[in-house]
Amino acid sequence: MSTLFDLTGRTALITGSVRGIGYALAEGLAAAGAAVIVNSRQQAAVDEAVGKLQAKGYAARGLAFDVSNEAAVQAAFARLDQDGVEVDILINNAGIQFRKPMVDLALSDWQRVLDTNLTSAFVVGKEAAKRMIARGRGGKIINIGSLTSEAGRATVAPYTVAKGGIKMLSRAMAAEWAQFNIQANSIGPGYILTEMNTALIENPDFNAWVKASNPAGRWGQPEEMVGTAIYLASAASSYVNGQIIYVDGGWLSVL
Ligand code: NDP
Repeated sequence: MSTLFDLTGRTALITGSVRGIGYALAEGLAAAGAAVIVNSRQQAAVDEAVGKLQAKGYAARGLAFDVSNEAAVQAAFARLDQDGVEVDILINNAGIQFRKPMVDLALSDWQRVLDTNLTSAFVVGKEAAKRMIARGRGGKIINIGSLTSEAGRATVAPYTVAKGGIKMLSRAMAAEWAQFNIQANSIGPGYILTEMNTALIENPDFNAWVKASNPAGRWGQPEEMVGTAIYLASAASSYVNGQIIYVDGGWLSVL
């Protein structure tokens, strides 16, 4: 059997992975052979997610920290160094949404969304890449974008700007780190059934719009991001760099 997609022997840190897309990615990478590090801001949620993964027989450990706090990110990586844990695969997945018309949007809310969804990927990516470069055996970085990496939507300006930035951050990472055999790519999920979208899922008009405007005629499931993540985390994508792959049921392909 091909070992192209085998992640055995690799360690993956997935930020924001106690639920939703991040948890699905942690479980999916673990099933492909990786040891996974689960993260969120809440220690109890991290412990619970690690417990669920371990109960399935996967190698999992937890690391609670806030991706928007540089000192906390640095302390988390120092802890991994102390424990001899080397991150081969980083998925910058942690994110928040905040909906408000731009004319009513406070600068502090704009900044919070940018810090959590974009600057965090630079800060966590920098700590991971420094170590990948020093070890000299390459690495994989996957940044989670969105349909808004490509297209605008009303009331989500900072999220749209952050996710557009994620697409370009992957390219900037590729430009600087490809020489160290690090591949940095993005995944752009369509509308996925997670807690982030609770209000939209419960809104019948929005639900009808999703089903009518997406050629797949439905929302996506978090688990449907896993195949692309394994591809971008594995040797199968060793010459793929700076790309964004939309996993959206074909949404961005139609008008
Ligand atoms: P969820 O709200 O279900 O999960 C978000 C995760 O991020 C949680 O584990 C949360 O844990 C964690 N998190 C939030 N802020 C921080 C922080 N500052 N530091 C560390 N962890 C944090 O969201 P989704 O699973 O829906 O989204 C995951 C990613 O996918 C996000 O980047 C999102 O923008 C993106 N995405 C989602 C889409 C969707 O339709 N759902 C579509 C396109 C992209 P905690 O709150 O405990 O810290």
